[in-house]
Amino acid sequence: MPIEADIACCLGDLEDEGLDCALDVIQGELGAAGIRIPLACPPVDAFRPRAGIEPRWFHSAGGLQFQPDVQYSRGTRAKPVVAEWLRKRNPLARLAETCHGRDLALHGRITCCHSPATIAHNPTLAVKDVFGSMSPTWLCPANLDVHAYLSAIVEDVTRTYAVATIEIDAYAFPDWRAARAHGRIGFDPGAVGTLLLSLCFCESCRQLAARDGIDVAAAERFTRTDLDAICRAGGASDAQNLDDYLERRQPISHLLTWRADRIIELVGRLQEASAAPLAARRPENTVITGADATRVASRCAIMTVPLARSDEAAMEQLVACALTETGAADRIHPILDASNDVTPDAAALVRTVGRAAALGVVGVTLGEYGLTPPERLGWLQQAIRYGRRGA
Ligand SMILES: [Zn+2]
Repeated sequence: MPIEADIACCLGDLEDEGLDCALDVIQGELGAAGIRIPLACPPVDAFRPRAGIEPRWFHSAGGLQFQPDVQYSRGTRAKPVVAEWLRKRNPLARLAETCHGRDLALHGRITCCHSPATIAHNPTLAVKDVFGSMSPTWLCPANLDVHAYLSAIVEDVTRTYAVATIEIDAYAFPDWRAARAHGRIGFDPGAVGTLLLSLCFCESCRQLAARDGIDVAAAERFTRTDLDAICRAGGASDAQNLDDYLERRQPISHLLTWRADRIIELVGRLQEASAAPLAARRPENTVITGADATRVASRCAIMTVPLARSDEAAMEQLVACALTETGAADRIHPILDASNDVTPDAAALVRTVGRAAALGVVGVTLGEYGLTPPERLGWLQQAIRYGRRGA
């Protein structure tokens, strides 16, 4: 079965190369059917290996990659933060127009809650741990102001720029490491400690959970006393099993169930706000993030799944797992990176894309364009051609 491929790229990279020039390569030479662009993103510090694309390091604190239309953000309390490199410009408008003119699909990606730039201007929206310490990186996915803010962004980009699909990621709670940016802990807190350090007790979570009948005070008490014990011992004292622990700590268990419902509520709101089919990144670590893959799949059209390495067996395994959640291969969209960590050579990439085609997935995304040396763009070209021939 033939398969179409998109290329992951960044607006800043396309701008600095020259839009038409870059799209000529992506569509004309590589043969991509579409591009996948981050429209709200975390900080970026990326090296451009191709000569003539300046500056060689692209550095940005992140934020929205377009100028938001006030008609969508009106009434939301969060202040939208536009990435500083855009200044007053809005290159997404020309990109969208150019893609439509060329019949090149434009897919957008919104990194929902991982946004230090947004928190810098909206500190009350951040995740807060049991010690009251605010995350410098992550918005609370249970906060209704965050729901309204993200819904406005999704509605804006899907209506204003007519994107073919909109992908969301980081729409759930963070692991404590993701919540801290540069956090260090001098011992292994174990599975229980990791969960407790990751729980959000922001004002919004407290109020809403209490409203819904959760004993937040008891959950907080257990979190504090159990974390204190883990800290004193310099780790979980016995090989603490998370399931056993939650069995003994019902208020925390109830809080986790409540959190999982908030994540589905958020994904549902984003689906309603979107004028384009919603794609959601496949979630991991359900207990900590609160995102259950099967429930998320029920609220989106497509599930995107990054592959850890370009390998046919890995592709088969990944599609088999995602299939139990989506129920259909044509709702799965694998993402393959051409960097060394993931892809050893052109042949591996070609075989893996061929396997994806044989498995009947809806499409694949390859990339990332701006990070890829010229030689390796040839790998993407070979893989895309192979996929198009129906492997
Ligand atoms: Zn919270």
